[in-house]
Amino acid sequence: MSTLRSPKITVIGAGGLGCPALYALGPELAARDARVVIVDDDRVDLSNLQRQILHRTADLGRLKVDSAEEALAARFPALAVEARALRVGRENARAVVAGSDVVLDGTDSIEAKFLINDACVLERVPLVHGGVLRFSGQLLSVLPGQACYRCLFEAPPPPGAAPSCQEAGVLGAVCGLLGALMAEEALAILDGKPALGSTLLVIDALSGERRRIKIKPRPDCQVCGAHPTITSLDLHREAAAC
Ligand SMILES: [Zn+2]
Repeated sequence: MSTLRSPKITVIGAGGLGCPALYALGPELAARDARVVIVDDDRVDLSNLQRQILHRTADLGRLKVDSAEEALAARFPALAVEARALRVGRENARAVVAGSDVVLDGTDSIEAKFLINDACVLERVPLVHGGVLRFSGQLLSVLPGQACYRCLFEAPPPPGAAPSCQEAGVLGAVCGLLGALMAEEALAILDGKPALGSTLLVIDALSGERRRIKIKPRPDCQVCGAHPTITSLDLHREAAAC
């Protein structure tokens, strides 16, 4: 398969995963005449600046998309970057991912991860999912026609059942590692050679262990199964909290 020219890459979340992913993608995407869309409505905060490498202390309080766009422009002037300061919710998720050649999910909300998965499945857009908690990280490519995030996890846990990044803590170096791997996988998808389709990669930064877990599509998956119940995100009640 040939390499896509002038691809569109959408990165949702300009935080601990999105920053290193964008940094790693920058030179390669500039060479490919790519367009990068960064989506985030959050502002730069001192508490997580150590892992959000595109933002500086001088950027505190600014929109992360503006800070990230500026940092990328300074580093990779040939790269076309579009900053979209919006929160991905059920009303706009499909529009955000539509037309992308690959989407990177660097959000830190489980509800958002289900929503972005569903939007990408419905729009038939490849998705690179990344998640980090404490010392471990996970990576999964959701490719059209293959197993999706919901095939693996089915539904978000009840509110409060799973700790958030803020509650559990995150090792900045794990974010850097995962973000770089997300970038690598996104480029592999653009080249038609994804390494993690239907495969969950789990990394333990303490032991150094990496596990690859094959995932089968679930025939009864709510969004990609034979008889999906999620066909329109307007009816997506789980996403209401996003
Ligand atoms: Zn599925």
